[in-house]
Amino acid sequence: MNLKETIRNIPDFPKEGVIFKDITTMLKDPAAFKEAIDHMAEKYKDCDIDYVVGIEARGFILGAPIALALNKGFIPVRKPGKLPAETVVASYELEYGTNQVEMHQDAITEGDKVLIIDDLLATGGTVSAAVDLVERLGGEVIGIGFLLELCFLKGRDILSNYDVFSLLQE
Ligand code: 5GP
Repeated sequence: MNLKETIRNIPDFPKEGVIFKDITTMLKDPAAFKEAIDHMAEKYKDCDIDYVVGIEARGFILGAPIALALNKGFIPVRKPGKLPAETVVASYELEYGTNQVEMHQDAITEGDKVLIIDDLLATGGTVSAAVDLVERLGGEVIGIGFLLELCFLKGRDILSNYDVFSLLQE
């Protein structure tokens, strides 16, 4: 199957000039969804990891089934104000202004080995904030996995200290 063809392009979303990669068309196709999860889980099946961390929201959709396939627990990184217990917060730069992500303070303990999953790597800002949260809690980032990497944005460059994998590239 050509997995890439199951992802559609939406021009001018969320703003003019951006071509948004819409994975909902892939998720709706059970064979495509399964193939994506199977391949991503396969990549990490022999890695020594304790938890899979997924980034809200599309990182949840991919991260949770990957965690189950690897027989590991799932930890959410969420947008501010969503997690009920005490959290750690990381900020990252956007084109205009900043964004924040949070993780429960007790989600990770010193020495935990973590795989971070998100749907798409663009500039790398979002996933870098998730890396920061994991490391501040004493966790070790064993790998960072994406369904799709937008190579022309060179997000990989700021993640050069990590094992970065993308199933599809553009
Ligand atoms: P970055 O922080 O690497 O610049 O952007 C990646 C984050 O924004 C990811 O959490 C991803 O879900 C979201 N994102 C940015 N552009 C797109 C896109 O074209 N398609 C999808 N599905 N997500 C995107």
